[in-house]
Amino acid sequence: MYTGDRCTILFQLSSDIAQRHTRLCPSSRCPSSCLLAALFFFHLLDISGWKWLDRYRIHESAEVKSRNLASRWDVVWAVVLQHSVQTMLGIFWLTDAPPYTLSGHQEAMSTIGRILVSIIHRTIGDEAGQDFLESRGAGIVQWLYWWGIPMAQLFFAMFVIDTWQYFLHRLMHTNKFLYKHLHSVHHRLYVPYAFGALYNHPVEGFLLDTMGAMVAEYLSCLTIRQSILLFAFSTCKTVDDHCGYNFPFDPLQILSTNNADYHDIHHQTIGIKSNFSQPFFVHWDTLLGTRMTRKDIETRRNKTKTKTT
Ligand SMILES: [Zn+2]
Ligand SMILES: [Zn+2]
Repeated sequence: MYTGDRCTILFQLSSDIAQRHTRLCPSSRCPSSCLLAALFFFHLLDISGWKWLDRYRIHESAEVKSRNLASRWDVVWAVVLQHSVQTMLGIFWLTDAPPYTLSGHQEAMSTIGRILVSIIHRTIGDEAGQDFLESRGAGIVQWLYWWGIPMAQLFFAMFVIDTWQYFLHRLMHTNKFLYKHLHSVHHRLYVPYAFGALYNHPVEGFLLDTMGAMVAEYLSCLTIRQSILLFAFSTCKTVDDHCGYNFPFDPLQILSTNNADYHDIHHQTIGIKSNFSQPFFVHWDTLLGTRMTRKDIETRRNKTKTKTT
């Protein structure tokens, strides 16, 4: 048996196992394990009593008890409920992907190759295009198929989730009925902490988080594995944005300035009509003039002080 044949068989076998595992195990469809890991990590920090953590807390730990209107049990109960709904919907919504076969990959790559040939010939001409494709064409097609297109799909899905959540979140603040009956529940947490990330009215949780994720998954044509990756990342990011710590380095905050400190401003009285963007980027806040930074708050307070003196 040639090495190539062995590789093909091993590849198909591992794909089949992964596919079967994905079908059988709901937890890999809905990233519950990531949610639990992130929640317990921050919970352990909260109860650790380590003094060195105090310098990274956005609020003093006593404020959590004194200023929040929801008890820890209210929050935990709401999180369990929302996550159960998301898990059930995930099982029914995410359809089984077609089996991964070598011929399927080759067919898809030859389609990408045809498109690439056409673009290169049109942009740099026939002769130069031919030389370029002979030296780099195969590598580019491989990269596009395995990395470029899947990454573009994931970024597009993030953009869809951000867009969905920004406008719906903003509507929930401008429409008095929606705020009073739905979104005010989340704002019972004046000082956010990790468990509060999913502390929402169940209807809001469905409309904002679950529906947003479903629309993004549908429009971006994600595979189940891509969906798992995206939902695991967005779940951890949402928990991280409510963690109450502003660490100097946080791997989940590298992508954008939308982080725990940014979202904390939205939970304060001064910023409640700002910083609607969540969970990934802040472009909608920036473009539509609803972005508020710590510096803006300081400037505003200084202006008020000057007026009163
Ligand atoms: Zn809000
Ligand atoms: Zn929040």
